[in-house]
Amino acid sequence: MQTLVLPTYEDVLIAARRIEGQAHKTPVLTSRTVNREWGAEVFFKCENFQRMGAFKFRGAFNALSAFDATQRKHGVVAFSSGNHAQGIALSARLLGIPATIVMPHDAPAAKVAATREYGATIISYDRYTEDREAIGRELAERQGLTLIPPYDHPDILAGQATAAKELFEEVGALDALFVCLGGGGLLSGSALATRALAPGCRLYGVEPEAGNDGQQSLRAGTIVKIDTPKTIADGAQTQYLGNYTFAIIKRDVDDILTASDGQLIQAMRFFAERMKMVVEPTGCLGFAAARAMASQLKGQRVGVIISGGNIDLHRYAQLLAE
Ligand SMILES: *Cc1c(COP(=O)(O)O)cnc(C)c1O
Repeated sequence: MQTLVLPTYEDVLIAARRIEGQAHKTPVLTSRTVNREWGAEVFFKCENFQRMGAFKFRGAFNALSAFDATQRKHGVVAFSSGNHAQGIALSARLLGIPATIVMPHDAPAAKVAATREYGATIISYDRYTEDREAIGRELAERQGLTLIPPYDHPDILAGQATAAKELFEEVGALDALFVCLGGGGLLSGSALATRALAPGCRLYGVEPEAGNDGQQSLRAGTIVKIDTPKTIADGAQTQYLGNYTFAIIKRDVDDILTASDGQLIQAMRFFAERMKMVVEPTGCLGFAAARAMASQLKGQRVGVIISGGNIDLHRYAQLLAE
């Protein structure tokens, strides 16, 4: 592997300036029930209330803002199971850049519809047999589009970092922070913010139990690839971490934990019943893992990033009824 120039906290500050006035500064909520039950102080950074319903808008808007005039004219191509697609499509519309999105044929209907509504051209593929990266790369070459990957890109992860940056700026240092993990854009970005603003904070990535490639990678010290995992956490069905994201995660993250689909459903139910929030399964990863180790968090100040709230209502009702 060639040496990568890793983004730093300086890049996070640049991203924060670029997205200011465009991304929402999302609320940080607390729950008396959680605080009482855990004997801790827990702060939820609610990216389910971000524009287009997930933190992905932050990285997408940051990456597209960095385009030069030629890139803007030719447009962007992205491959994504949903939220990255919407983040790119919305950012492209706001910046007047044409967008083409490569999406799996079985992507959640709500996510496909939203992406189309933002004015993007959609190309579908079979996520179990076709290689989305190859499709995206070919489009990029043939039509002169700039490919923006969902996580393994310095501007993407620097943009995602602004969520944790806002959290620390609002509530101060924390003892532990729990972050949902797919390809690692949110986690590596959160690592840059954490090591700059709360260096002593323990940082945990949380991925689906069925797809613990990140946990395996951290243990092995090298990127481990797995088959597309079957899990309700569709935003974290990634097969491997990125080169940028893994380099930062390996350096800065304390541990990677997992949550089962059953734990995610329990967490979704909790958010709905107690906090009156719709959170998508992937968005529940951080809370589900923190909850499972609540007895070890007594007396601590704990951050949880809720990463998104985009879910088909029919699917949501089905999962809650299980
Ligand atoms: C993309 C996504 C994730 C995973 O983010 P990565 O940067 O790929 O690790 C988690 N939750 C939601 C809601 C997402 O859209």
